[in-house]
Amino acid sequence: MALIVHKYGGTSMGSTERIKNVAKRVAKWHDAGHQIVVVPSAMSGETNRIIGLAKEISAQPDPRELDMIASTGEQVSVGLLAIALQAIGKQAVSYAGWQVAIKTDSAHTKARIASIDEAKVKADLDAGKIVIITGFQGVDELGNITTLGRGGSDTSAVAVAAALKAQECLIYTDVDGVYTTDPRVVSDARRLNTVTFEEMLEMASLGSKVLQIRSVEFAGNYRMPTRVLSSLTDPLIPLEEEANSGTLISFEEDTHMEQATITGIAFNRDEAKITVLGVPDRPGIAYQILGPVADANIEVDMIIQNQSVEGKTDFTFTVPRGEYTKAMDVLENSVKAHIGAGSIVGDSKVSKVSVVGVGMRSHVGIASQMFRTLSEESINIQMISTSEIKISVLIDEKYMELAVRALHKAFGLESA
Ligand code: ASP
Ligand code: MG
Repeated sequence: MALIVHKYGGTSMGSTERIKNVAKRVAKWHDAGHQIVVVPSAMSGETNRIIGLAKEISAQPDPRELDMIASTGEQVSVGLLAIALQAIGKQAVSYAGWQVAIKTDSAHTKARIASIDEAKVKADLDAGKIVIITGFQGVDELGNITTLGRGGSDTSAVAVAAALKAQECLIYTDVDGVYTTDPRVVSDARRLNTVTFEEMLEMASLGSKVLQIRSVEFAGNYRMPTRVLSSLTDPLIPLEEEANSGTLISFEEDTHMEQATITGIAFNRDEAKITVLGVPDRPGIAYQILGPVADANIEVDMIIQNQSVEGKTDFTFTVPRGEYTKAMDVLENSVKAHIGAGSIVGDSKVSKVSVVGVGMRSHVGIASQMFRTLSEESINIQMISTSEIKISVLIDEKYMELAVRALHKAFGLESA
């Protein structure tokens, strides 16, 4: 017997028919002797619909009131699922976040979980009940209802699993796991049986489509084994088969390595590159350029400073494409004259491609293989950055898909 947390996404909860299927699946796990806590999302489309109502009334609704509204989608799902379980003879009880309580800070619409009181849930489980807790919502110190940001039910589920010291958190969703790269770009991309937390974070650009990335951070911090698996299978397939399906996000030392040095190819289409030319090379210059950019809340990713010639250098960095114009304005208006730079140029049509894998720690030659592959395709590398388990290059967006396909093949990631 184990304590296991199930999370079901909006599609899985999308109709009363589907909710009945979720109930059958949950009952199957409970019948096998496990203690089960379920954390569902709102029915698909529901959160958008109710937030939309608020926006019909005001372009900028008060975040506290928005949370009051947005959190109700999950409250409907937990009640429906409890009824569906009771209808097939199971004892089940549903709770809103404040009843458990899932305590958060007061950052409405993007609150962070501070603590969870697990005593009440434990008592229900010990009494043989299936416990269903709303995803996405919590309560702050003053008793206000908060929400955790879009897609936040994943984070709720992992947090509940961590607080209860569950054996595993199963995230049931409409994809069957995490892939070596986006299957829409590479048709023979392969599903990974395991991936480490660190790899998952580095592959955020791919992974975030599957999981709210904050939930992966949470899982990493609390060492909570988390599995992404399909909710579209027959709810009554054998439990053993289901328990080993999907992709397990785990720790390096727990992960049975799948032989490969590289785990996946991640990419981000929407990057922009900015170069400040003719910058005087003196202490403090990086801060004087990037300080105002950070103050404008613009996230900087890759950074390069060139060798200086006659006391002048060029300074290049990347920002998300959506922030390109804003970043250019900041540099033109509050940096250029101040530091005595020559001019500022940019390119908003660049993409980042990364090879990711913990195997890089113990294997050499990954970078050279990556660069050789790109050179064979005549793809020019504009910037390079590395971490212990990732090498990223910035290239013209025209070549992004070509680069991803070539690298996926070069590192032998395709399905057998
Ligand atoms: N219902 C919320 C949303 O649509 C939370 C979630 O589904 O994870 O963002
Ligand atoms: Mg989701």
